[in-house]
Amino acid sequence: MQQNQLIDPFGRIVDYVRISVTDRCDFRCVYCMSEQMTFLPKKDLLTLEEIAIVCDSFIELGTKKIRLTGGEPLVRRNIMHLIKHLGTHVKKGKLEEITITTNGSQLHKFSDLLFEAGVRRINVSIDTLDPEKFERITRWGKLDVVLNGLDAAKKAGLKIKLNTVALKGINDDELSSMLNWAGEQNFDMTIIEVMPMGDIGSENRLEQYISVSEIYQKLSQQFSLIQSTHQSPGPARYFDVANTGNRLGLITPLTHNFCESCNRVRMTCTGKLYLCLGQDDNTNLAVALRSGGKDRLKSAILEAIGRKPLGHDFMIERGLSNKAVSRHMSVTGG
Ligand code: SAM
Ligand code: SF4
Repeated sequence: MQQNQLIDPFGRIVDYVRISVTDRCDFRCVYCMSEQMTFLPKKDLLTLEEIAIVCDSFIELGTKKIRLTGGEPLVRRNIMHLIKHLGTHVKKGKLEEITITTNGSQLHKFSDLLFEAGVRRINVSIDTLDPEKFERITRWGKLDVVLNGLDAAKKAGLKIKLNTVALKGINDDELSSMLNWAGEQNFDMTIIEVMPMGDIGSENRLEQYISVSEIYQKLSQQFSLIQSTHQSPGPARYFDVANTGNRLGLITPLTHNFCESCNRVRMTCTGKLYLCLGQDDNTNLAVALRSGGKDRLKSAILEAIGRKPLGHDFMIERGLSNKAVSRHMSVTGG
């Protein structure tokens, strides 16, 4: 193994880390959380300083890309301290990229700061352009605030990709107009299938579920979708939308077709390192850091990567399960 590369037992180079900086959120999306979510006590969270040490260690071990997510990353107090710290690594060329996945509710305040810190691309989750539906899906969100945030992000110079979860009978009829709108705004767009992660109370994921292949069939009748030369090691298949000049990603996380090229691991806000989105095996990096400092932390990272599994086990159709993986997406951050 080269000294500065993390390589798993299947020869995959793991150079991408997603970090959930908080499990808290100012929305309560129906496919993600129940309305009465219980969040972790603040004392259980890694401090921002500890998260920075974990990031530094990953970078020293060869990580090239870090994505901050949540919960809603931009509601964590003083989050800009961490983002600025990571930005210094980008500016020095030690880290290729820092990206954020956000619901957009705070972008009107943060966009300029993010750009100044060195962020160039963000993912913004938006499932509908209808204000009433938006409130129905997010329960607590307001569409106009997110649209203002998107405007601010565009003006700040951030490249934007929209993440849209396909929801049967809720937004599936709207996806083509959203794709058109995304093209007009010069946003790429990724459509995601509902995944069985975490309890969502009285909502039923099977009722929400619509397969992305069904969506592809419909969209390909209205748009000229050309298989893109851009393919990432993640779960998305990309198409160039000839009509708009932008890119469409389709994520079918419930199939295994992407595991072979998986290059990522995920850390929760309490310091648990999950080696696969669809598996429960994890390593507690908080314990390693607090008991043995950075050296122990790095050994724990190396040991964990050494047992990264080949792939995940969840299948929404097979188990008809509402929560095949017990933790919420907001814990591991998607
Ligand atoms: N709050 C931020 C946001 O919404 O972008 C970041 C965290 S959120 C958990 C990350 C992504 O996961 C979002 O695009 C969201 O739509 C998606 N997501 C959440 N729960 C999901 C589920 N059960 N199935 C599929 N996608 C889900
Ligand atoms: Fe919050 Fe994102 Fe989950 Fe929606 S998807 S509840 S915005 S964490």
